[in-house]
Amino acid sequence: MALGLVKWARIKSPWILHFNTGACNACDIEVLAALTPRFDVERFGILLKGSPRHADVMVVTGSVTRQIRDRLVRVYEQMPEPKFVLAVGNCAATGGVFQQCYNVYEGIDKVIPVDVYVPGCPPRPEAIIYGVVKLLEKLAKS
Ligand code: SF4
Repeated sequence: MALGLVKWARIKSPWILHFNTGACNACDIEVLAALTPRFDVERFGILLKGSPRHADVMVVTGSVTRQIRDRLVRVYEQMPEPKFVLAVGNCAATGGVFQQCYNVYEGIDKVIPVDVYVPGCPPRPEAIIYGVVKLLEKLAKS
């Protein structure tokens, strides 16, 4: 009963943490645009949080550089279970334009598990919202 209530609350109001692992900032601007009243993700109960300890979903942008890798893992480990990851943009999914550079991993899933990928360079806010809805559908089935 209590577990069902927690799951219901998480689906109705997922709290997100935004993490830039080395993006050019265009993906970040689209994530922020999705959070503005124009696109209004709060209608899904989605709230941006500053602490990983309060977040259900990590929204990651950019290719993972060797410099940021350990910090990404540390912040991911600070999130309470169950936790989910949304990879926003081609860089987050595969390394994008930075593929085969000596200083990047080719995709966030080389470092932490990813639940949903949102392709694009950068993806539009509508695509990010679609990715979040897909994640919520996945949560509902879990
Ligand atoms: S996917 Fe494109 S817009 Fe996003 S961080 Fe990479 S280069 Fe920048």
